[in-house]
Amino acid sequence: MTGHGCGGPRSTPTDSRLAGLAEAYAGRRTLLGAAGGAGLVFSAAAGTAAAAPRRRTRKRAYVVVVDGCRPEEIDSGLTPNLRSLRDAGLRYGRATSLPVMETIPNHTMMMTGRRPDRTGVPANSVYDRALGEVRTLDRPRDLRGPTILERLDRRGLRTATVLSKEYLYGIFGTRATYRWEPGPVIPVAEYAPDEFTMAAAREMVTAHDPHLMFVNLGDVDRFAHSDLTGPSGLEVLRRTALLNTDRLVGGFVDLLKETGRWEDSLLVVLADHSMDYSTPDRVISLTAPIEADPFLAGRVAIGDNGGADLLYWLGPDRQRERAVRRMRAIAQGTEGVLEALDRRTRSLRLGPEAGDVVVYCRAGWRFSDPDPVTSNPIPGNHGHPATRPIPFFLSGGHPAVPRRTARPGLATTADVAPTVGEFLGLPAPRGGYDGRSRL
Ligand SMILES: [Zn+2]
Repeated sequence: MTGHGCGGPRSTPTDSRLAGLAEAYAGRRTLLGAAGGAGLVFSAAAGTAAAAPRRRTRKRAYVVVVDGCRPEEIDSGLTPNLRSLRDAGLRYGRATSLPVMETIPNHTMMMTGRRPDRTGVPANSVYDRALGEVRTLDRPRDLRGPTILERLDRRGLRTATVLSKEYLYGIFGTRATYRWEPGPVIPVAEYAPDEFTMAAAREMVTAHDPHLMFVNLGDVDRFAHSDLTGPSGLEVLRRTALLNTDRLVGGFVDLLKETGRWEDSLLVVLADHSMDYSTPDRVISLTAPIEADPFLAGRVAIGDNGGADLLYWLGPDRQRERAVRRMRAIAQGTEGVLEALDRRTRSLRLGPEAGDVVVYCRAGWRFSDPDPVTSNPIPGNHGHPATRPIPFFLSGGHPAVPRRTARPGLATTADVAPTVGEFLGLPAPRGGYDGRSRL
């Protein structure tokens, strides 16, 4: 193991995956502003592309996720850099997040090119049947199968993750050749502000020059979640975040141009989901109606994902079909619910980790389970169909990137790995992708 930081090398524990999680779970938090430059710590695993002979290619791919960005916001006037990148390159006017429209599953789809029934990662929050509790899917072993990070690494290409959110750092663990541990991290929100994330991305490029770097910028999402002016349409915090994040992306492109990388670059810009707002009078809590049902009471667990509730039948298997019918009927009869689907519905492509029934809320609503007041007090939410549309465009100076082109196809988050893979000459994995290259 080797460590790399701004202030010199820092050794990391033998298993930095466990270290990262241990820190997250121990609640150790570095307060914003308190850590100075100590946030810039990269780790790398021995025996990877960091040490192996390099494959020679000048191509560089950068995936930048503006977490929670809505497609129309690129035309809001708040994001001139994103707009000019989009207009100069290849844009997909119809692009979507995939179920469940949450951060962890959609980043997993981006990095694997596969749907959740093949990766085991369908949502942010699931009921873990083995543990008997609801938890976040933030452990390296939660993700089955390879991501493009280690697939490229095995071929001698350097990969890097610069992910602002602690749970993303958790689940993708040591898969990339180089990783940045998010910091300083804002307590409760559990993410690093874009200012620090982008500083790390710049440093990552300068210090390690990865062939693929995957960046998650959390401000636009995190500011919106807590934006009490969101439901009124003012979105004061969010607008501030969009302006700032756009400025940082512009600065990153400048860095690529100044260092001669732009002509070799593919830049993939997208969101993992968009954002919807709800007021406190538009909150759905399914715990009470389910507990009021004599058949279901005490035998259902709920994974609350903001705009989607996942219902898990805990009773005997032989009663499952009856339970599914009952849960769907109760959910569908609840105000604010858009639909309650049997999780086995083929188009959902969610595995058993997502439970038995998937309940979506209508636009302008949110779930709060188990407690209708305290479980989910935040105005900004996603996970439901209203939050499916995302921006999705390819830019960069490499000749493989079409110029000033709009395509009508429906791009999805699962298309990122195939797109980057094609650009860097990586064949599809065994069993294939679920997404497709959008290059
Ligand atoms: Zn997100």
